[in-house]
Amino acid sequence: MNIQKLVKPNIRSLRAYETKEIPCKVKLDANESPYSPFTFHLSPFNLATLNRYPDPEAKNLRKLLAREYKVKSENILQGNGSDELIYYLITTFGGPVLYPVPTFSMYGIISQALGEKKIEIPLDRAFDLNAEAFLKTIKKQKPKLIFLSSPNNPTGNCFSQDRILKVIKFASSLIPRPSSLVVVDEAYQAFSSKKSFLPFLKKYKNLIILKTLSKIGLAGLRVGFMMADSRIIKEVNKVRLPFNVNSLSQKISAETLKNRKLLQSFIKSIVSERKKLFNEMRKIKGIKPYPSDANFILFKVKDADKIYKELLKKGILVRNMRGVINGCLRVTVGTPRENAIFLKTLKQLL
Ligand code: PMP
Repeated sequence: MNIQKLVKPNIRSLRAYETKEIPCKVKLDANESPYSPFTFHLSPFNLATLNRYPDPEAKNLRKLLAREYKVKSENILQGNGSDELIYYLITTFGGPVLYPVPTFSMYGIISQALGEKKIEIPLDRAFDLNAEAFLKTIKKQKPKLIFLSSPNNPTGNCFSQDRILKVIKFASSLIPRPSSLVVVDEAYQAFSSKKSFLPFLKKYKNLIILKTLSKIGLAGLRVGFMMADSRIIKEVNKVRLPFNVNSLSQKISAETLKNRKLLQSFIKSIVSERKKLFNEMRKIKGIKPYPSDANFILFKVKDADKIYKELLKKGILVRNMRGVINGCLRVTVGTPRENAIFLKTLKQLL
């Protein structure tokens, strides 16, 4: 039986996103938060309502998000994680899809899965956008969508604001107006000292802001959302599956968002731990950590594969960036104890 022959060519050559569950004591590989905002064991949710479908429009959750970000509900669309919204965006608008590399791998994987052309432009030596190359490509190839993860995964830095703005402005001025939609993926923005692009939504109608609750303590709920002009939301909503965010996720995320103080305190602690971790890593001979605006740190190390395996032998799981940025590993900021174990073990290995 040759199933491969039945598979569409773009799927046949596609490599699946790697999400292996590797048993470990210290889990620092997936950019999750080490803190859970839940102090209760049972949700405040009435389980007796689970015989009903969820609210297909997630009205309450969207209302809360609208209030939080000072936009209207009609400017928000909910997703089963922001991954799903990337899927919906590319389904709605198609390609070419333009993005810098290295970046979050799902932009490329989903483009290929949907049979859309992808265009990749390498970041410059400081991991910033090569704005000139972007403008040239936008003019020549008129990509329908441009994805900019800022802070960028896996490099950790924000792209410079003026370069992002240059790209947005240029794409909004070309015929057909706009020639491209620009998605600023702010999955890690909560950890950054740089400002969100949200205030530019009103001015640039081709701008889409993508956010997620995954990095601030709710990865298991799968809740992401996009904010954009209502005409964009209306089109993307056509391809959204009717009940994409389940009732429990809607209810629990809405409850959690009300507890802003707690969420902010976790974020503050992760940012302060990141600074400590970075300073300590800088002192270790044989590695080069890159400054980060996110909840993880990318670092270069000799024999990265070996160090990755040795760390895992000691129960510490980080992400090996082989094939993305060779010779680099990425460590998520954990609790002070987890970070101390990671640092101590890394020092011993080197
Ligand atoms: N964007 C970026 C830049 C990410 O790193 C991730 C998670 N790895 C996502 C989006 C997707 O997050 P989620 O689907 O959990 O909302």
